[in-house]
Amino acid sequence: MKHILITNDDGIHSPGIMALKEALMPLGKVIVVAPDRDNSAISHALTMHRPLKLHALQKDMYCLDGTPTDCVAIALNKIFKKLPDLLVSGINNGANIGDDISYSGTVSAAIEGTMYAVPSLAVSITGEPPFSYENTYEIIRELAAKTLENGLPANTLMNVNIPAGAHINGLRVTRQGRRIWKQSVQEVADPRGRIHYWIGGGVPLLDAGRDTDVHAISNGYVSVSPIHLDLTNHEGISYFRDDLDLEAIPSIAKFNPSS
Ligand code: MN
Repeated sequence: MKHILITNDDGIHSPGIMALKEALMPLGKVIVVAPDRDNSAISHALTMHRPLKLHALQKDMYCLDGTPTDCVAIALNKIFKKLPDLLVSGINNGANIGDDISYSGTVSAAIEGTMYAVPSLAVSITGEPPFSYENTYEIIRELAAKTLENGLPANTLMNVNIPAGAHINGLRVTRQGRRIWKQSVQEVADPRGRIHYWIGGGVPLLDAGRDTDVHAISNGYVSVSPIHLDLTNHEGISYFRDDLDLEAIPSIAKFNPSS
């Protein structure tokens, strides 16, 4: 019997998490641990300045007054007796592609699972609400089953984005593209004329090579990207070391004049 942890960043009341449960139930024993409210764009935040309360809503279904990362940490350390065979985060309402991946609580929950060496998937549905999840069930179940059977590369999660709607052109294995939001800070006046700022919205400037998640989604394909935990630009190491000669900067060298 396989053991599966489900979480999300949209909160326990999001219909996406029930859809995910529905999709994965046939694969094993599913336990849901999710934030008690919407935590979208909370990234990989961990709550360290207050205690956290876990509520059992029903059998194998819990909500936590914390972040998606908190949910994974508490599930893996306190709810599961041994590490689960799979973690799936989602189904997020809205794409997690390109630069948005850095902000995503959905992807960060899968990053946290990957840090514990639990094979982890982040799943999002793209497009605009209202979302209909029926078309995603089988796709998610097959991707999850393949992961359960074969595992994932070390330190790597599977980031899945599924186009909303009835028509899907196919599936593309992709790399992370770029999606930069232009004019994403709006200025608004309150009734007293004071200026406030809203972050969000704006116009996405796409830098979408043909092999990217951004390109796949804008062309109606399911996008599946292997996302690595190592943020190092390995080519940058020789630039820092040899071209910039950082290891020889005088402020450091003076600590050890003999070397
Ligand atoms: Mn979300």
